[in-house]
Amino acid sequence: MPAESAVRQVVLASGNKGKLAEIRSLLEGTGLGVVPQSEFAIVEVAETGLTFVENAILKARAACAGAGLPAIADDSGLEVDFLQGAPGVRSARFAGQGCTDEDNNRLLLERLQDVPEAARSARFRCVMVYLRHSCDPAPIICEGVWEGRIGMRPSGERGFGYDPVFVPSGTSQSAACLVPAEKNRQSHRGQALRRLIAIMTVAA
Ligand code: IMP
Repeated sequence: MPAESAVRQVVLASGNKGKLAEIRSLLEGTGLGVVPQSEFAIVEVAETGLTFVENAILKARAACAGAGLPAIADDSGLEVDFLQGAPGVRSARFAGQGCTDEDNNRLLLERLQDVPEAARSARFRCVMVYLRHSCDPAPIICEGVWEGRIGMRPSGERGFGYDPVFVPSGTSQSAACLVPAEKNRQSHRGQALRRLIAIMTVAA
């Protein structure tokens, strides 16, 4: 790559390996590179916000301060209409602090037991923010939404989190059946990050 288009390093405010892999592949060829916050020994902040946007900013601010670099953070989650939008911002810890993805999926399927397909609508939402520095008063904020429903049982081996129980609209297979490139093309995070990259590369 020529010197003038050398990769700009940005810290990623997440310890989630699934997200890191997705975001790295989406940033390929953009001139932006992500370094996970674990490389700076930054500990994850408590997600005390009531909204995705508050949590994303909290995470990005802590990563900027710890790494001394601009930061990208996302806060994302699953909203299930039958559960009035839960698990929402609590998606990662739906089944309790320290729970696994399997625990969360099991609990979700339990809560939706006997709920018919037509009432199982859900969506993934992702809010992605970019902070130039920890006191940046004007973060860039982008959102993506991926509509679908909760399947009757888990299926598929790929992805992470709720992918095995999330069936994107217009298909009958779960998100865990999608190859990574196809998931990135459709997903809430892919949509949000493409919007963010478009703004960042213009603002650079
Ligand atoms: P966050 O790290 O606080 O944003 O937590 C997001 C949580 O939402 C993850 O731990 C997953 O449980 C869920 N989630 C977000 N995006 C996805 C996805 O693409 N697939 C499956 N689950 C997801």
